[in-house]
Amino acid sequence: MIVPVAPQRTCVVCRTRADKWLLARFTWQNGQAVADGGRQAAGRGVYVCRECLDMFYRRPERWPRWFKAARPNGKEGAGMKNKQDAAARRDGGAA
Ligand SMILES: [Zn+2]
Repeated sequence: MIVPVAPQRTCVVCRTRADKWLLARFTWQNGQAVADGGRQAAGRGVYVCRECLDMFYRRPERWPRWFKAARPNGKEGAGMKNKQDAAARRDGGAA
């Protein structure tokens, strides 16, 4: 007997992994996060766990960062480079 493995997704706020259906999905539409109840809306989606939903709604200024962090698979290399560049810029600005 084959037991199907539940697909896992990462909460974009606390980075906890959980079964996909335990997380709420949001997509980025017209400059804001839109709850994707049907889980099939087009565009880049992020997942938020129940514990973080409240914070997610209260922090719209962080939506761009959270959605930016949700990179599609296969682009890790480019993401790493950008991250390093951003860190370098931050350090320079703080000094
Ligand atoms: Zn969370």
